[in-house]
Amino acid sequence: MKINTITIQEILDKYETILLDAFGVLVYQKDAVPGAIPFIDRLNQSRKPYFILTNDAAHSVSTSVSRFHRLGLSIEAKRIITSGTLLVSYFQNHDLVGHGCAVLGTQDSSEYVHIAGGKVVPIQEYSSWDVLVVCDEMGFPFLENMDMALSMLFKKIEARQPFQLILPNPDLIYRKNEEEFGITAGSMALVLETALKLRYPDCKEREFIRLGKPYSPIFQEAYLRSGTKNMVMIGDQLLYDIRGAKNFGIASILIGTGVTPCDTLTKENPDCPDFILPSWIP
Ligand SMILES: [Mg+2]
Repeated sequence: MKINTITIQEILDKYETILLDAFGVLVYQKDAVPGAIPFIDRLNQSRKPYFILTNDAAHSVSTSVSRFHRLGLSIEAKRIITSGTLLVSYFQNHDLVGHGCAVLGTQDSSEYVHIAGGKVVPIQEYSSWDVLVVCDEMGFPFLENMDMALSMLFKKIEARQPFQLILPNPDLIYRKNEEEFGITAGSMALVLETALKLRYPDCKEREFIRLGKPYSPIFQEAYLRSGTKNMVMIGDQLLYDIRGAKNFGIASILIGTGVTPCDTLTKENPDCPDFILPSWIP
């Protein structure tokens, strides 16, 4: 059975708060998604509560505000919930403040870890960190540092030093533009987890703690800010945005501008959204 299509007006009428994914929904790597700018303008003019719920852990909230503005999207800092910002409560709740942390990601990724209370140290200094935070695929020599992370984790296991693995952004792939795709932090974590399991089949602690969509911490943060569960998540990835919203008990809409095409999806799919929206352009 086909999934019903919803219009922008119906979305505005039906839900109290709108949650929007960023990549593949509002922006591509270098451009706004067609129709996203007038949609955000409409939300701003009508004072409709909305939040950007993004697995991005490569750009700080202020960097995100500037990037959105540069692409024509007027989005205030208070509306942006990135997976990087979730590190603060995770570090507090798990007594990680003051711990040495190796970070794979951008300068902003390291800043997120620093704000959360972690002491960012070079990945090569394996005995000075016990937390590895994988934030993003950019901002460092990829192969060299991935190899280094792997070798340092093996060394830690051999030396029986405990460690924690944290993954703010569990996304495996993203859409760069209308033609190209790329891999991201979740894929890096999968490689490291698989390698750890391969070399040390009985070793525990080999899995990353995942904070972003589809896991609940990021939705919990949106709920804290909105105060209502009458929220709808508009996203482009079935297994992240839509599954996450369903697991959290809120409505979901798959938009066809990103990773998962919405025209072939049926109601028989266990992750099927409540509605589909082919694009922002009516
Ligand atoms: Mg996306």
